[in-house]
Amino acid sequence: MLLLIPGPVTTRPEVRAAMGQDYAPWDASFRPLYAGVRERVGRLAGAAAGTHAVLPLQGCGHFAVEAAIRSLVAPGAKLLIPMTGSYASRMAKLARDAGRVVVELPASAVQPVAAETVARALAEDPAIGHVGLVYSETSSGIVHDPVAIGAAVRVAGRKLLLDAVSAFGALPLDVSRHPEIDAAVFTANKCMEGMPGLAFVVARIDAVQAGRGWAGSWSLDLCDIYEHAQRNGNGSFRFTPPAQVLAAFRTALELHEAEGGAAARLARYSANARTLYDGMLAIGLRPYLPQNVQGPIVLNVHAPGDAAWSLQGFVDALKARGFLISNFYDTEHPSFRVGCIGAVTPDDFSRFVAAADGALTAVGIRDRAPASQPE
Ligand SMILES: *Cc1c(COP(=O)(O)O)cnc(C)c1O
Repeated sequence: MLLLIPGPVTTRPEVRAAMGQDYAPWDASFRPLYAGVRERVGRLAGAAAGTHAVLPLQGCGHFAVEAAIRSLVAPGAKLLIPMTGSYASRMAKLARDAGRVVVELPASAVQPVAAETVARALAEDPAIGHVGLVYSETSSGIVHDPVAIGAAVRVAGRKLLLDAVSAFGALPLDVSRHPEIDAAVFTANKCMEGMPGLAFVVARIDAVQAGRGWAGSWSLDLCDIYEHAQRNGNGSFRFTPPAQVLAAFRTALELHEAEGGAAARLARYSANARTLYDGMLAIGLRPYLPQNVQGPIVLNVHAPGDAAWSLQGFVDALKARGFLISNFYDTEHPSFRVGCIGAVTPDDFSRFVAAADGALTAVGIRDRAPASQPE
């Protein structure tokens, strides 16, 4: 079975095999493994020694996004969030629930956010200290540009929190070139092709220290995680780590490097997305986005307008053919969502297209054209 979802993704057998033993996290043979993972992650993100810290957290991406907001945005302070889709909405909810003030910047669901729009919003409200941007908006499949938007944030003298959860490991990120990035957040189980259960915040040390006491949550306090490492070394995880997941992640990092790093992974995912896009058109389905804004991470396809259509029925028919896709809608107009990331290749997507063609016929879809489409 191949998981064609935007996380957790299909992994390689070597990654899963690395989990097959027990570890005592404080033991001398585990500490270097963990310290090595931190170092590698820092290198991948462009972290600069003395400027950035790699701060791991048990759990999923939302935990790390919340930790970054709580630890780096002062209680009651303002955060501008371009409302790019459901992951931006989630960031807004996490921030509001933590008592931060969210300024929503309206954004198109079918176009990238323009840096000028962000610049204008910042100029209009000097009280906004941070911008929260979703790099690859997993609901729409659109990639937003942290280089251009980051420059606007930098020029305005503000800071950026970057949700790079579905981007890191494939889309470019070099925090050393972005002094405005207070934190970039990501997990092990998306483009890095590791196991779920482990998240990272690569953060500016000065920002982390400035936020001492802000988190209002010991579990999600990045400053405490940073100070723990200062006291106990980079091989010491605060509280119990998902040790097997970390071991699997070390293998995933080695495979990432062997493949050729983020550039090679981006090339493979782009080829996956292209094969899928063209394949959907070829079998009479319509991708949700125009090709020129379609990102390489996740692709939505308009649900057929046929009265016989049922998403779950289609998902089940695909599952019987060896492919699992998301079984919910995450767009304004109904569309099914296919992840292009994970240990999968264009050949897998060619087979997927054939499977989708067969599945549609099997569930009785005659008319494959969408019922409606975005303006
Ligand atoms: C997957 C994802 C998250 C976090 O999801 P979790 O289920 O909490 O790991 C956050 N932001 C984006 C853009 C994502 O794709």
